[in-house]
Amino acid sequence: MSATSLFKNIKENFMLKRVVITGGVHGNELTGAFLVKKWQKEPLETKNIKIEYLLGNPKAFKECRRYIDYDLNRSFSKNALSKDSSNYEFERAKVLKERLKSCDFLIDIHTTTANMGMTIVLSKDDPLSNLIAKKLSLEFDDVKILRWFSNSEGDFINSTVPHSITLEAGAICQGVLEPKIFFRCEEIVKKAVEILDSDMEINKFATDKSVEVYDIVKTVDFPREENEPKAMIHPNLLGKDYSQLKNGDPIFITLEGETIVYNGEPLYAVFINEAAYYEKKIAFCLCKKSNI
Ligand SMILES: [Zn+2]
Repeated sequence: MSATSLFKNIKENFMLKRVVITGGVHGNELTGAFLVKKWQKEPLETKNIKIEYLLGNPKAFKECRRYIDYDLNRSFSKNALSKDSSNYEFERAKVLKERLKSCDFLIDIHTTTANMGMTIVLSKDDPLSNLIAKKLSLEFDDVKILRWFSNSEGDFINSTVPHSITLEAGAICQGVLEPKIFFRCEEIVKKAVEILDSDMEINKFATDKSVEVYDIVKTVDFPREENEPKAMIHPNLLGKDYSQLKNGDPIFITLEGETIVYNGEPLYAVFINEAAYYEKKIAFCLCKKSNI
């Protein structure tokens, strides 16, 4: 099936009406939160779709923390959503799930302390989300596509809607805004909205070109002693997201200065040294690369 007919089918089958854009699902990722605030005051113009803008975690945003009790973006599993809880994020997840009930497409904006540039994260395999990611990757040189389909820690907000993309932008510290990243995220989200709204000009966006996709296949923790990291990311790896790791490449350096090397098949590293993942026991994630 050509991309044109695929996109036509998607439009006909799904009749996109309602798009939701979320930011600040993690309270200390200010880029998405302030984009949402900006658009709440001055909404993006659309012809065919309605957009709602949601601040994901208002309480954590106010305190400039990632979360209050638990990572909100891991709080959408059936288990978390079904029970009454004093956990703020579990309760907030229920509110968001209700607000997202008739949402056809979700765009969720995040930032990372890892040097990942502009990454579109896909959390499930559906043709419309894939196509939007692909269009954005072809439109913008710096946009990469990362698929993260399984997560044992709890389901993402994306699991509540039929179609979605997550924009993950970095490197940027937690709790700060930077104009370059802010305006680049704005540009990318605006383009995604333009495509979703473009009913009349589908052909303009159709393509048979293939793009590179990275699939997360495993995570790697820091070497630890009594639960605490006893090594840091090696300087050779730091900031080198999407580079290939080969047997023998340095990955960690201990607090005493001893180098620890990679031992395994060639894979691509992402989320290298993400601050929020220390507690998740992830020093970096490893991916396979293919084309879609
Ligand atoms: Zn985030």
